Amino acid sequence: MTTLPTAVFDTKSYDRESLQRGVSNAEIEWRFMDWRLSAETAASASGARAVCIFVNDRADRPCLEALASLGVKHIALRCAGYNGVDVEAATELGLAVTRVPAYSPYAVAEHAVALLLALNRKIPRASNRVHDLNFSLNGLVGFDLHGKTAGIFGTGKIGRVAAQILRGFGMQVLAFDLFPSHEWAKQHGVEYTDARTLAGQCEVISLHTPLTPETYHIIRRETLELMKPGTILINVSRGALIDTTALIEALKSGRLGGVGLDVYEEEEGVFFEDLSGQILQDDELARLLTFPNVLITAHQAFLTQEALSEIARVTVANLIAFDTGQPFLAGTTLNAQPQPE
Ligand code: NAD
Repeated sequence: MTTLPTAVFDTKSYDRESLQRGVSNAEIEWRFMDWRLSAETAASASGARAVCIFVNDRADRPCLEALASLGVKHIALRCAGYNGVDVEAATELGLAVTRVPAYSPYAVAEHAVALLLALNRKIPRASNRVHDLNFSLNGLVGFDLHGKTAGIFGTGKIGRVAAQILRGFGMQVLAFDLFPSHEWAKQHGVEYTDARTLAGQCEVISLHTPLTPETYHIIRRETLELMKPGTILINVSRGALIDTTALIEALKSGRLGGVGLDVYEEEEGVFFEDLSGQILQDDELARLLTFPNVLITAHQAFLTQEALSEIARVTVANLIAFDTGQPFLAGTTLNAQPQPE
């Protein structure tokens, strides 16, 4: 077997460490880039047979055409969501596309719940105060989650874990999914309902669907108007599930109790970067950061040791499988597996 040259885009130290740990240099020659993949940067994959990309890389048709002309054969996503890849164009160009469909639903669901708890009990504000020797409790009143109703929008791998954790807190859980799993719901005391009822009857709403044309801006002005005053909204899935302009309007009106975001519509080029000391150019993000009841993390819900190890294991297995003509791991391929040359 020859060494597989693989161009890895948008890498940070934790990506490099976990990928290198899982495989010998004789099998994969990692070419780590710290910039993102796009049509403009595709040329940096020259000489690579595979590219490995993450959530904010843009593998659109022009980018894929450029990669194919360079001799790239395989796009290996090291994440679950694949809204950044034009899979149809890749298939037409004979490029295999794989992803890591599940690495740790616990990591992502636990982060959603961490945002909820921190928002409701105002932990960041409380901690900042205490560090400033301000031990007053004014303005820090939260509410018991026990006995309240949570709405889980999307009961796939992550949504289910989130629902089960919230059931553990003694919450009622309503859920909506295009493909409900009634057996799971019965087992965990979860009740499926329609999207409108879910929006209007919950104190907490957590989004767990992928970003698709159907779910784009699923939270917009009309949806926000359905929500009970004081609702806490959590999004750890994809930023564009929420219309940010409408969200800011709802926050300004004071109707929302809190918003916890690990993803943001325009996060590309901002999240994952250290921009401290620079002037933030995104006015909507700047506005969001002024609300005392908004908590934002920069797409870190996946960031646990277990998730990173699993991402590396599956990505490496797919890269080697393709290079040696073996089948990909079950559930990882997004198009028919072309044969390597
Ligand atoms: P999954 O495929 O297991 O579940 C998604 C669920 O959404 C499915 O049950 C599906 O039927 C449902 N769904 C799809 N379209 C729908 C629609 N229009 N209306 C209602 N339900 C719909 O996916 P998962 O592993 O649970 O991941 C969910 C999403 O979380 C991913 O697509 C990704 O965008 C996001 N994610 C974020 C992070 C992070 O670090 N913040 C990490 C991993 C995944």
